[in-house]
Formats: sequence, structure tokens, C-alpha cells
Amino acid sequence: MQIVIVDPSRVVLRIITDLLEPRGHTIHAFTDSDAALGFLSRTDTVRVLITSLEVRPRCGLELCWSARLLGDARRPLHVIMMSSVRDVRTLAEALDSGADDFIEKPPGAEELYARLRAAERLANMQDELIRLAETDPLTGLFNRRAFFGRVRNAVARPDSVGQLSAILVDIDHFKRINDEHGHDAGDAAIEAISDLIRPRGIVGRLGGEEFAVVLPDGDLEAARVLAGRLRLHAKALRMETAKGGQVRFTCSFGVSTWGADDTVEALLKRADVALYQAKTQGRDRVVVSTDAPALAQAS
Ligand code: GH3
Ligand code: MG
Ligand code: MG
Repeated sequence: MQIVIVDPSRVVLRIITDLLEPRGHTIHAFTDSDAALGFLSRTDTVRVLITSLEVRPRCGLELCWSARLLGDARRPLHVIMMSSVRDVRTLAEALDSGADDFIEKPPGAEELYARLRAAERLANMQDELIRLAETDPLTGLFNRRAFFGRVRNAVARPDSVGQLSAILVDIDHFKRINDEHGHDAGDAAIEAISDLIRPRGIVGRLGGEEFAVVLPDGDLEAARVLAGRLRLHAKALRMETAKGGQVRFTCSFGVSTWGADDTVEALLKRADVALYQAKTQGRDRVVVSTDAPALAQAS
């Protein structure tokens, strides 16, 4: 695990590092609590923070509290307070400040290992819960909520205008696949399309047979070209059913790009309107949204 340790004494930091590194942990040691917090906020792979009560400029309790705010539902972060004072008040204060656990300073090797094993169990469980909450079980793609969250992060970049684009994909006449070949064949079609689009950017399954791809670095033309390729790939797919039949299908695509003062909802709404046009124009086609007034402001 990646572990951050904060203590004013380089000797204490050395002792703990020497205990943990041979066990395969990666240790990031700090004497300055603000530097530790900066590192934690930049490095979301850190799973454990061990901090002394007596650190500066931010005291151990404040560091616990700030670290707790970083470690939210999406980021497992186990906070262990370390102090040579082990009275009930200090312990309660540490736990109330967001610490998950408390350990004496300097910690005994066996106790430290056992507490870290417990921390690792919890972190793994939280990782698994996050994965389950964010992914669609059939395809392993992001579900709608996780997809929107990832896209919101991507559009926060200031240079996204005209450089970030969205593609909505919908399988044509999907009900027919279910009706003619059975629900399992329908599921297989959904999985096949997921495999086609999975490596392409931020990818989510928004509904039954509807998917979205956001290209964080793709302009409208790049998205149009990609959608065109995906359309041909999808059309060329041949899936054998258990009963010896063959399933073929096509997909329709709507494409839009990020404008100034845009919102993720509006970006996908424009792609959805374009997708609807693709459906009404006969399906198996790509329609690019021309409805991006905010782009004009950007150029
Ligand atoms: P269109 O070309 O206009 O998109 O028609 P369509 O039949 O593809 O679309 P419609 O939205 O009418 O039907 C979608 C169907 O997808 C309805 C629903 O029963 C089915 N469906 C939704 N989720 C799943 C799923 O997970 N597996 C399977 N096999 N079918 C699903
Ligand atoms: Mg459909
Ligand atoms: Mg649909």
C-alpha cells in the first residue's frame, strides 16, 4: 500500500519506514504536515495516513480532519493517529477529528502490521464497493452516474471548448433482437458494442442499449470520424446464437462538441437530438449536431 507518514522527528520516520518498506509498502515520509496534505491531495493512490499528534504547521488533529475531507466516498483513505500520550481524551479527540484508528508512538512492529492489515481489508472493501457502485454489471462500463461524474471532471479543464466531444450510440431495432433471438442474444449484442467502444475515451452505458463516449481530446471532426468507424465495425459484427442463428445489427450515432458556458447535460442533449435525427432519417448513420451556439463565442 502507499502510506503517508507525518512526524516531526526524522528518526521516528526512519524507524517506521524501515518497519514497513520490507513488507512491500511504499512510504512517503513528511516532517511538515502541510506538505503531507498537499501530497495527499495530489496522490489519490495513497491508502493510509499515519500522523503524529505533534506535527506542524497544521497539528495532527487538523491534518486528520483535512485528510478526512479528501477521503470521501470515492477515495478510501485510512487515517491512523499516532501519539505517545494515550489517554482517553486524546483518543476521543483523534477519533472525533476523523481518525479511524490510534496507535502508540513509537509503534510496536506487530501492532503496526496488524493495524495496517485491518486498514488494507477496509480499503479493499471500499474499492470494491466503489467499483460496484460505478460500473454496469453486464458490460463493466461506467453507469450513468459515474459516467457523468467522469465527464464533469474532464470538462473542468479550461481548454475543452471545441476540443472535447461526445458520441451517443444506440443499437437499432434492438427490441427485434430480443424478440427474434432471445434476451441472451440481446445481452450479447450489448456486450459486443461495449467491447467496441470501451477503449475509446470516457465510456458509459446510459440505458438499455444506449451508450455514450466522451473524447476528452477530440474535436467534432475526430468524434465524427470515430463514430463513422464504429458504425462500420458494428455493422460488420456477426454473432452466432446458441440455437445456430446469426445476429446482425446496426447502430445510430449522435455527435456533439463542448462549447463555451456549456453543461454536460446540454452537451449530451445535443448528441441525443442528433441521435434522434439519425433514427428518423433511417438509422445506421451518424448525425453531427450543428446546434452549438456557444462554439461561435469561443472562436
Ligand atoms: P430504435 O431503433 O428506435 O432504437 O429501436 P429499439 O428497439 O432499439 O429501441 P427501444 O428503446 O424501443 O427498445 C429497447 C429495448 O431494449 C427495450 C428493452 O426491453 C430492451 N433492453 C433494455 N435493457 C436490456 C438489457 O439489459 N438486455 C436486453 N437483452 N434487452 C434490454
Ligand atoms: Mg435502440
Ligand atoms: Mg434506446
